[in-house]
Amino acid sequence: MINYLFQEQNWQTQLSDLITNPQELLDVLELSHDQLLSGAQFAADEFRLRVPRAFVEKMKKGNPLDPLLLQVLPHHLELEEHAGFVTDPLGEEQANQQPGVLHKYKSRFLLTLTGACAVHCRYCFRRHFPYQENLPKNDDWANIKQYIEQQPDINEVILSGGDPLTLSNRKLQVWIERLSTLPQIKFLRIHSRVPIVIPNRVDEELVSILKNSRLRIILVVHSNHASELDDFTCSQLQQLVKQGITVLNQAVLLKGVNDSADVLVDLSYRLFDAGVMPYYLHVLDKVKGAHHFDTPAQNIDLIYKKVLENLPGYLVPKLVREIAGEKNKTPLFGASTF
Ligand SMILES: *Cc1c(COP(=O)(O)O)cnc(C)c1O
Ligand code: SF4
Repeated sequence: MINYLFQEQNWQTQLSDLITNPQELLDVLELSHDQLLSGAQFAADEFRLRVPRAFVEKMKKGNPLDPLLLQVLPHHLELEEHAGFVTDPLGEEQANQQPGVLHKYKSRFLLTLTGACAVHCRYCFRRHFPYQENLPKNDDWANIKQYIEQQPDINEVILSGGDPLTLSNRKLQVWIERLSTLPQIKFLRIHSRVPIVIPNRVDEELVSILKNSRLRIILVVHSNHASELDDFTCSQLQQLVKQGITVLNQAVLLKGVNDSADVLVDLSYRLFDAGVMPYYLHVLDKVKGAHHFDTPAQNIDLIYKKVLENLPGYLVPKLVREIAGEKNKTPLFGASTF
């Protein structure tokens, strides 16, 4: 049965009414596994459970291996130590030029305006990142402006996070207007998972702010499985596409969630239904606590080869890895590459 409540309730209400208690999540999903619960409670001490109810609604009741549930439920395996799995796999702390600015690539940099996310993804490479010490204050705009103006190569700003769409429309609009005063900035990218986990975030006001900006807007959403893209979510994404906003998707290859060519092929077709183009398929970043999502290199090769065979080229996401210190994301194909 489809629950229309989440289509009507405003997004702020949904964002303030997240599920954060593992017991409640398991109850809603009619799962009564003592083992699941005790693992979840321990692991949640390190990185808290956080999931919107509209996203839980897309999970199948009674299935402890639901691919959406696995992405958000804390698991005792997160507490295991594994060689090579570290707290800052991408060396972001070094790349942090000034509060809010993470500049590693030539023409574009990340601007972090909030540390908050609507959902906590267990495999997130920023799960240990000290966001709160790193946010720009309102009066930091002068410094950020100066930073950009001193680097003529920059033509794009990427709002990242945390998740920038947890911010109010008003605050987003202030930043978008500030950035549009700089002639060198042509593109504004927004990296967000909120339209997937709280589709109502795509409200009329947001669409209008993005549509009316001088900047060319690219929204990069993050969805890992076709079950995340129900009809309502797709129609919300289409609202943006219809207004000329480019919407792309990035996914992470996750063992147990989408480590199969069939699942990835379905995801690409479903995204295309929504007018969204597959962009990146990321190999897991080796962050402490995410080892159980890691897919062996040989499997990745087999899966990706099959994806290539089964999709038209325009629906194949680029398989990439982020390597600390590299000047771009590194394309992968063939076991020898990774
Ligand atoms: C991925 C990433 C970007 C954007 O890279 P694109 O290849 O342009 O999508 C920018 N900065 C950082 C730190 C990144 O990790
Ligand atoms: S929404 Fe993105 S930044 Fe936030 S926890 Fe998930 S993967 Fe990490």
